[in-house]
Amino acid sequence: MSANPIRRKLCKTAGLTLAFLPLAAMTRQAHAASNAALRAELKYQDTPKSGQSCLTCLEFLPGKTATDRGGCKLIPGDDQISPQGYCIRWNTM
Ligand code: SF4
Repeated sequence: MSANPIRRKLCKTAGLTLAFLPLAAMTRQAHAASNAALRAELKYQDTPKSGQSCLTCLEFLPGKTATDRGGCKLIPGDDQISPQGYCIRWNTM
């Protein structure tokens, strides 16, 4: 072990950072959530119906890009709504 306290602290910090990187990646994945109960109630599907899709619905909360999954104002706690999805509450008014 180094006698230099600053160097020792830097090594310790670097080691901790490397140790927690996989945990940070797993936590990010764990944040992806879907609300199965409400999806079922609204008959949500991952594909459009008769040209109607979440992308053109006023309730849709877009993801980072036009093709990323996002959310829906009517399905709280769900960030996996496909822009190509659809449900019986599709709304453009
Ligand atoms: S209300 Fe239905 S169609 Fe509209 S964004 Fe939400 S899940 Fe998609």
